[in-house]
Amino acid sequence: MSHPLTPDSIALLYEYHRSLPPFRSIKKMPHADGVEFRIVKDRARIAWCQWMGDRFRIAISANGVSQTATLAMYLGHEMCHVAEDVTGHNPGGNENVHGAYFRKLAARFCKIHGFDLKAFF
Ligand SMILES: [Zn+2]
Repeated sequence: MSHPLTPDSIALLYEYHRSLPPFRSIKKMPHADGVEFRIVKDRARIAWCQWMGDRFRIAISANGVSQTATLAMYLGHEMCHVAEDVTGHNPGGNENVHGAYFRKLAARFCKIHGFDLKAFF
């Protein structure tokens, strides 16, 4: 059985992550109500986020996620990108650029939630 992903369940997990460090202290981190969550089928990328002009869109590929831990890790990764943007730390470049601010958040996120930083980005 594949993981029964829904945008609503991802939004709830987003709010869980947002309630804890490292995102809790970032006042500009948008509430889930202001973020669009999409389930896509992409074989090349597991997750990504994009500024749509008025909100962030976070997409999760059903082809890349079949367990909650995987979803929690990839959602946290995309939230580090959102945090970069809203705090003015986006280093520019393409989506594969992970700057110093991202790496600092990633290290804290992985430590708190028990993810392997070496697999995080
Ligand atoms: Zn990334």
